[in-house]
Amino acid sequence: MSWFTMSALTCPACAQAFEVPTADTVNVTRLPAHRGHVLKGNFHRFACPACSHAIRVERDFLYTDLDRAQMVQVHRPDTEKDWRHAEKETLAAFHAAVDNGPPGVVDFAVTTRLRTVFGLDELAEKVLLWEHGLDDGLVELLKLELMMAMPELRRKPDIRLVITTVRDRDGELWAREGDGGQYALPLARLRELAATRGALTERFPGLFYRPWVSFKRLAFEAPEHGPEPEAERAPSADAGAEPMAPAFPERRQGAQTP
Ligand SMILES: [Zn+2]
Repeated sequence: MSWFTMSALTCPACAQAFEVPTADTVNVTRLPAHRGHVLKGNFHRFACPACSHAIRVERDFLYTDLDRAQMVQVHRPDTEKDWRHAEKETLAAFHAAVDNGPPGVVDFAVTTRLRTVFGLDELAEKVLLWEHGLDDGLVELLKLELMMAMPELRRKPDIRLVITTVRDRDGELWAREGDGGQYALPLARLRELAATRGALTERFPGLFYRPWVSFKRLAFEAPEHGPEPEAERAPSADAGAEPMAPAFPERRQGAQTP
């Protein structure tokens, strides 16, 4: 089911007040055009009726794609610091949908990719990565490697690093930082990480078993060490912890093809 409500906007360019329909819930199985709008960055984008100024509305909503078994709870970008609360909301929304849904929804629940994201750009990123069959948890580790290699990125406390383009033919992902810099990330490195995925999921369970799949959560969660089956897997409440040091297989510089 999709559900849209009217939202009041004021044009930042000319102060015209107007109303637009925005989603509480959008089910792209029923409304497939909206998936395309998400990918192109046009979802929740409106033109002011007086001056045509383009306005994009960020709000909380639920994105579901039953055919692709994807469910993404979108939160406003300015609420990212409340990610633990947002994750709980995502899990609650998921259980509400599954517990009250028709029988087919149970199959959906078993295979679904459930995510918490902050803003439309991050929603578009997830949909894009899945379209190309890429593992978003591994992509977050790739972003973290980029951060470790780029001190100027590490110095930005509120950094936003979003994959905007996947070039299979060139073997590259392109990430955009905020509204500025673009960075190429090699797909070959992603395949290297994929080869050690089992060990990475044990070391960084938050990136593979929790809804907020973002490298940023690793600043709050110490990596798991060694095989300790009884180890507490819940996220640490130590929000003041220093960002962790990266702990990957050594990156080979020079990027020889395997
Ligand atoms: Zn206007």
